[in-house]
Parts: sequence; C-alpha cells; structure tokens
Amino acid sequence: MKILVINAGSSSLKYQFIDIDTKQVLAKGLCERIGIDGKLTQKVSGRDNFVREDAMKDHSDAIRMVIEALTDKEVGVISDMKEIDAVGHRVVHGGEIFSGSVMIDDAVMDALQQCVPLAPLHNPANIIGIEACAKIMPGVPQVGVFDTAFHQTMPKKAYMYALPYEMYEKHKIRRYGFHGTSHKYVSGRAAEMLGKNPEDLKIITLHLGNGSSITAVDGGKSVDTSMGFTPLAGVTMGTRCGDIDPAIVTFLMENEGLDAKGVDALMNKESGVFGISGLSSDFRDLEAAMDTDEKAKLALDMFAYSVKRYVGAYAAAMGGVDAIVFTAGIGENTALMRAAITEGLEFMGIKIDPELNKIRGEEKDISAADATVRTLVIPTDEEMMIAMDTARLAK
Ligand code: AMP
Repeated sequence: MKILVINAGSSSLKYQFIDIDTKQVLAKGLCERIGIDGKLTQKVSGRDNFVREDAMKDHSDAIRMVIEALTDKEVGVISDMKEIDAVGHRVVHGGEIFSGSVMIDDAVMDALQQCVPLAPLHNPANIIGIEACAKIMPGVPQVGVFDTAFHQTMPKKAYMYALPYEMYEKHKIRRYGFHGTSHKYVSGRAAEMLGKNPEDLKIITLHLGNGSSITAVDGGKSVDTSMGFTPLAGVTMGTRCGDIDPAIVTFLMENEGLDAKGVDALMNKESGVFGISGLSSDFRDLEAAMDTDEKAKLALDMFAYSVKRYVGAYAAAMGGVDAIVFTAGIGENTALMRAAITEGLEFMGIKIDPELNKIRGEEKDISAADATVRTLVIPTDEEMMIAMDTARLAK
C-alpha cells in the first residue's frame, strides 16, 4: 500500500510518499510560496533533487504539481496517480471531537470547521489541503491525523484551567497539547526498544525542537503534557516564551502600549532562547556562542532547567518513571542539552553515560550502567506514524 502524507501550511505544503509495506519513503518534497509564485522541491533517495518553479496560485495547484512530480517519467517514482492508495493529512487541532485518526467525510469536514477558532492559523490550511486532494483525487480515501488526538486521554484535573468553569463551556478553553503524533510514536518505540508492553510503562517523552513539549505517558496513554490551549505554553522554546505569569500579558499591554496582536507576536516570535540571547533561536548558534556570550549561555541554561522541571513534575504526576525519551531536532542532536537536562536527576535513577551520549540522530539507550530509569534517544517520525494510521483506516 502506498500512502501520500500531506502537511499543509498557509503558503507551503510538505509531502512524503511512503510504501507502508516496506516502510520506505519513496519520495519527499516541499511546495513553497503557494499563492505568491511557486516552487516545488522533491527528493528521491540516490537521485539529484528535482526543482520546479512554476505558478501555484492555490493549494490545488500545489497538489497537482506534487502528483505530476510523483508520476513524472524521469523524476517520478510511480507511473500513475492510481498507485496512490490513500492520503493522510496532518491536522493541527482536533479539539475535543477527535481522540484518534479518522477517515474524512462530510461530517468530519464540518467538525474540522468547528475547530478553526482553536487554531486559526493552522486548521484552515489543513482544510484547504484536504479539499484540494478530494478535488484532484476523487474516490481516494483520505485520513485526518491530529496533533492533539493523543492527548485526549488526559484526566480532567490535568486539562482544566482554574478559570471560571463557563470559560470552558463557552469557549472550550482547556489544555489540548500538541506534537501528539510524535509523543505517541516515540513512546511506542520506547516500549519496543525496552521489550515491554506500553501498558506496563511510565514514560516521559521530551519532544525538543523549534517548538518543544513534554508528555507524561502512563500505560501508553498521555496523562499530562506541557503545551496547553495553544502551543505557546510549557518549556522555553526557540522563539516562544513558554510558561510565564499570565499577569505579564496585561502588564505589557498597559506598560509597552501593545495590543492583543502585539503581545501575541512578542510571546510567540520574539521570546524564548532567541529573546533571551538576542542572537538566535537555533541551538547550534547558541552552543557555538555560549563560552563567550553570557546571554547565549543563560538562554541554554533556562531551556535545560525548564525541561528538567517538567521531568520532575511528571515523575510525580505518574508516581514514578521507567524511561525518558529525547526526540526532535534538539533532543536527537545535542549531547550538551541531554547532559544538562539529566544532570542532578541521579536521585531519581536518571543517569546517562557520557560516551553513549555522544550520538546524534540514531536510536540508542544512553543510560549509565547503574541507572534505574532508562534514558533513550529516538528520532521522531511523524510522517511514518501518519502513514501507518492512514493505511490502517483506509484498509
Ligand atoms: P525541529 O523543530 O525538530 O526540526 O528542530 C529544529 C531545531 O533543532 C533547530 O532550531 C536547532 O535548534 C536544533 N538542532 C538541529 N540540529 C542540531 C544540532 N546538530 N545541534 C544542535 N541543535 C540542533
């Protein structure tokens, strides 16, 4: 079975074409500048990148060009569009409606529309991507896979905010959590690596990338997660502030002359390790500068400390922990941050081996011999997870 995985943004669209039987990525690519001019880049293992610059006035044009690239006689990987058995779409927000992946039909499309106020920047692009595929590939099963779905198992005491209850009833203000596909994938892989049933494990998954989130996975289910109503909450991130005293918002509005949009931009785009360092949101730049630049060092210290706090909190929430998992750009690649986050956690059985920690981007148990909690590095693969869910439902 061959699955096309689509991750549609407002002006871009990422795709992967996956053979689910061999777990092989046949092609992957990116459409950029949709609605502006248009550029498609496609990568196929062992070949030169294929680049096509051509007008993409909307997402339908982009999908059409993706199919043309996949079926092209010279640069393609299939001979006919009919070889696409199903399409899996990454959808950012499924609200309280979706606790798992779903086959898309008219009722699901209506429900997706209802979730738009919860993710006004992301969900409309996802909906447009689905509509474009339905138009170009009528009859091909389409599946929606939600960033929020894995976290729908959180107990109410974990997902409610202590605001007046009617704010939840009226606006559905609550913790949703994000990166669910990644947390689900790496916690499942962790159980496989440890040779145990997910039901028997308490795992803390650390998805540390440009956006970062931590999840407590008890018995295979998300029971708490650091992102909240939006992906702004939780640990310090690349450009996002993470948890702050909520009263700072009104203080800034009164004292910096900012309106709602201004504070939103400040907290989402000008904060985090970028805001602290004034240098970069990329950890490679910060690590390169940390010996001579105090603010770069402070930004890294703040990041590691904010993650460490959540590890302690979630061990307490679950009454113990069997394994912690590092994943995503930072978690997979930076030995320095893995060391800083786990340092001082020996009291709870977490201890890494400095030699084993030297790896980058590969699956590995990096625990010290005398650790009682396993520390694992597991590269995330959200696209494969989306493809697997899509194949399961489309069958
Ligand atoms: P992601 O959002 O998962 O793609 O992660 C992107 C982030 O991972 C980048 O902004 C970097 O901060 C970080 N990153 C990626 N590779 C490295 C590396 N080799 N060393 C340090 N940080 C890295």
